[in-house]
Amino acid sequence: MNICVVGTGYVGLVTGAVFADLGNDVLCVDNDAAKVADLDAGRMPIYEPGLEEMVARNVADGRLAFTTDLPTAVRRSVIVFITVGTPPKPDGQTDLSAVEDVARVIAQAMERYTVVVNKSTVPVGTGNLVREVIEKNQVRPVPFDVVSNPEFLREGSAIEDTLRPDRIVIGAPTQQVAMSLLELYAPLERPMIITDVPSAEMIKYASNAFLSTKISFINAIANICELAGADVTQVMKGMGLDARIGASFLSAGLGYGGSCFPKDTDSLVHTASALGYDFSLLRAVVGINRERASHFVALMARTLDPLAGRTVAVLGLAFKPNTDDMREAKSLEVIERLLERGAAVRVYDPVAMPPARRLLPATVTYFESPYEAATGADAVALVTEWNEFKFLNLERLRTAMRRPVVFDGRNVWEPERMRRLGFEYHSIGRKSVVPSHP
Ligand code: NAD
Repeated sequence: MNICVVGTGYVGLVTGAVFADLGNDVLCVDNDAAKVADLDAGRMPIYEPGLEEMVARNVADGRLAFTTDLPTAVRRSVIVFITVGTPPKPDGQTDLSAVEDVARVIAQAMERYTVVVNKSTVPVGTGNLVREVIEKNQVRPVPFDVVSNPEFLREGSAIEDTLRPDRIVIGAPTQQVAMSLLELYAPLERPMIITDVPSAEMIKYASNAFLSTKISFINAIANICELAGADVTQVMKGMGLDARIGASFLSAGLGYGGSCFPKDTDSLVHTASALGYDFSLLRAVVGINRERASHFVALMARTLDPLAGRTVAVLGLAFKPNTDDMREAKSLEVIERLLERGAAVRVYDPVAMPPARRLLPATVTYFESPYEAATGADAVALVTEWNEFKFLNLERLRTAMRRPVVFDGRNVWEPERMRRLGFEYHSIGRKSVVPSHP
C-alpha cells in the first residue's frame, strides 16, 4: 500500500519504518529540511534502539524514503498519516497549528479518495476540525475520510511497541473506512478496537491521564511513607500484586516528564473545562507531579545544609532511560533548583548530553562517565534510572566523591547495601541511612 507519514519525529519515523518493514511503500515527510537531509544520509535524528537498522534496511530495499514535498507525497498515497507535534500552549491547551497546516496542504494536493489519519495526540473533536479544514481548502471536491488512530508507543521501546502494541485503536466514521486501516495493521495480529472518532481520541487522553494518576498516586503515598517511616517500595509491591491494581507505573520517584504525560494531562484538564467539567482529580495529579523536583532538592538542601558552594553530580538527564529526549525532563527542574540555591552541577548521561547542552545553563559541566562526574562531589543525585547506573561500581563511585552522600530519585539502589558500602543514602519514600563506619 502507498502511504505517507507527515512529521518524521519519534512517532512518524518509527511508524513509517514499521509500515515499510511490513511491505508497504512509505514516504516520510517533514518540513525540517535538515532532518530530511540527515535521514537521507542515514543519520537518525533521535536515539531509539533498533531504529537505525530498520530504517537502513527499508531504505535499501526501496520501501522507505524521505522528503519535504508534502503535495507530491499526498498525491501518491491512499492513506496519509498526520504525526506532527501537538505541543502545549502556555495555558495548557493543545496547539493544533501544525495539524491544521498539514490538513490545508493535504486538501490542496488531494486528487483522489484519501484516508487522512490523525495519529498525533489531539483533543477530542479534532477529527471534526481536520475534516472542516480539508473541506474548506479543497480546490475541487475530492472525497476523503478522517480517521483517528492514536499512538501508544513509548520512547526507548518504540519499535517493539509499534510491532507489538497492546491494542490498536481505530476511530472511523464507518466500518468500511476502518477496513483500510485494519488491512494495514492486520499483519501485526494484535487486538484492535474499532470505534468512532471522538471515542478513539478520548481513549488516548484517558489512558495517559490514568497512567499519570498512578504515578502521582504512588508519589503521594511516598510522601506519607517518608513522614510515617514506611517503605514505599514494599507498599508498591504489596499493592502491585493485586491483579486489579497491577505493578506498572507504580514506582515512586521524581514523577513523570517527557513529551506526552505533562502536556496530555494539561490538555485534558483544559478540554474538560472547555466542555464545562472541572477535572479536579487530574488537576491534583498534575499538582503532585509538579512538586516532585522541589521535594527532591529540598531533601538535598536539608541534608547538605547549605547547598550553596556544594558540588552535586547529577546522573541521568533524559526524561527516562533509553532515550535522548530531554522534553520536560525532571533533570532540567532539579538542576535549575540546584543552581538557584548556589550549588555547582556536574552531569553525566549515556546519550542525552548533546541535547541537554542546548537546554542547560552554561555553568553545568559534562563528563564522560559517572565516576568522572562524581569526582570531588559532595553528593550524587540519580535522576534517570539508566540500567548502567544499576550496575555501577559503587566502591569506585564512593572513592571518587568528596563526601559519600547519594540522593536516589528513582529508588535504584537498596538502602542496606548502600549503608554497608559506606554511603549516606537518601531515596524516595524510604528511610534514609547513614554508613555503618562513617
Ligand atoms: P516530534 O516533535 O518528535 O516530531 C514531530 C515532527 O513533525 C518534527 O520532525 C517536525 O519537524 C514535524 N513537523 C512539524 N510541523 C510540520 C509540518 N507542517 N509539516 C511537516 N512536518 C512537520 O513529535 P513526536 O514525539 O513524534 O510526537 C508527534 C505526535 O505524537 C504528538 O502529538 C505526540 O503527542 C504524539 N505521541 C508521541 C509519543 C512519543 O513518545 N513521542 C507517543 C505517542 C504519541
